[in-house]
Amino acid sequence: MARPSGLWRSPRQGILVAVPVPSAPLADDYAPTPYWWDELEQRRPRIATPARQVDAAVIGGGLTGLAAALELARSGCHVVVLERDIVGQGASGRNGGMVHPGVKVDVAALASMPGGRALWDETVAAFEGLGALVGELGIDCAWHRCGHVELAHHGRRAAHLRSVADAYTAIGEPADFLNATEVRDEVGSSCFSGGLVVHRSAGLHPGRFAAGLAAVAESAGAVLHDYTEVLAIERAGAGHVVRTSRGPVRAREVVMATNGTTDGRLVPWLGRRVLGVGSFMVATEPLDPSIVSSVSPNGRMLFDTRNFLHYWRPSPDARRILFGGRTSFAPVTVDRARDELHRALVAIHPQLAGVRVARAWGGQVALTADRMPHVGRHAGSGVVYAMGYCGTGVALSTHFGRCVGRWLAGTGDLPAFAGRRWPSVPSAAQVAGFLSIAGWWFRARDVLGR
Ligand SMILES: Cc1cc2nc3c(=O)[nH]c(=O)nc-3n(C[C@H](O)[C@H](O)[C@H](O)COP(=O)(O)OP(=O)(O)OC[C@H]3O[C@@H](n4cnc5c(N)ncnc54)[C@H](O)[C@@H]3O)c2cc1C
Repeated sequence: MARPSGLWRSPRQGILVAVPVPSAPLADDYAPTPYWWDELEQRRPRIATPARQVDAAVIGGGLTGLAAALELARSGCHVVVLERDIVGQGASGRNGGMVHPGVKVDVAALASMPGGRALWDETVAAFEGLGALVGELGIDCAWHRCGHVELAHHGRRAAHLRSVADAYTAIGEPADFLNATEVRDEVGSSCFSGGLVVHRSAGLHPGRFAAGLAAVAESAGAVLHDYTEVLAIERAGAGHVVRTSRGPVRAREVVMATNGTTDGRLVPWLGRRVLGVGSFMVATEPLDPSIVSSVSPNGRMLFDTRNFLHYWRPSPDARRILFGGRTSFAPVTVDRARDELHRALVAIHPQLAGVRVARAWGGQVALTADRMPHVGRHAGSGVVYAMGYCGTGVALSTHFGRCVGRWLAGTGDLPAFAGRRWPSVPSAAQVAGFLSIAGWWFRARDVLGR
């Protein structure tokens, strides 16, 4: 069978180091598209010339942008969402749907930062706010509280998870450390030397959630524009002129909600602070339910402790395993990532040997130098931003977007994460060679359990 291939678009170039990987077996209906879109209703793209004058222009139609637009529209503002592809089809509509409190840095590190308690509480508010929003808006997106398990891929990481469990207890979050025997009750694999269950976490269907949020924002009065790329942002009096591929838009406020796809030419200061890298997923063909439950007996969301982490879960209908990971910091094709992920899946779960891959896809996440998300107003350009979720943005992006929308409408505050110092990442030229070296460095650390 001919295998379609595609290089996931990356705003920055890197070096692809090609070590041969055996091809994954492919299902007869294999497609290199997100599993989440299989059952989404096809709708016509929203193509129209944007209004010439608005209160607020939101750049990026993911969860951050849609949530900001929802709150602005609810407050009576004239708001447009300008999306260069299709609203809801960036990372927001193609992620793993694993939702948990916290940020990329672990709870012990977060709690030890100045104001760490308030930051943690904000992430819990983001998580709970998402659950409440799904209920309030009636979005049918398979939201369910199932808990998640972090799995130690090395003895050293098990010892670390024990200290993280203590940090959860200290901050009042229900979580339990599992030793090497207990962890077998949570995952059908002998690869892990310990684990940590965080009970509050949940799962959802990201395709349905992003599409549902877009529909609700639109009903509230936000105007969504697909295939409308923002090419430049210029200061004009007290506001801005946003130059788009469909003409200029004058806006009092501009919100950059572009996360891992941020184009540094629009606001160079932001471009120097986020690094877009690919994260990839595969979905198996439909499996016998007993095989799915052998992988995650309690239906939890699963992550391992590698720097190049793997994350996996049952599909909402419990018929497939969805398995994801970051296979490299450098650009990589979907085919290549699929083959690597399939190999990793079978190495962790030998009971899945021979299982075929039915879908494979990738998307861009935004890494930051301090592994923290950032939100606020950039003094130089006057642009408001919310981004840098480091691959854990389902709850945070929705929350930051809503906070930004309410803050601009004068009905709420920015999150506790606002106003923190934001260090820059290496420049594009430095990054090109650096990413491959960094990739090998982190892989070596994974082998050593560091
Ligand atoms: C494969 C994968 C798995 C993930 N799994 C999880 C998970 O399980 N749990 C979790 O919490 N997080 C996960 N994430 C991360 C999460 O999806 C993101 O943090 C979150 O969706 C970010 O939302 P956003 O709205 O800020 O950005 P996005 O959804 O990326 O939206 C940004 C939008 O901006 C648009 N854009 C960029 N430039 C322009 C321009 N010049 N003009 C107009 N539009 C522009 C892009 O086209 C894009 O649609 C995952 C991400 C990926 C890729």
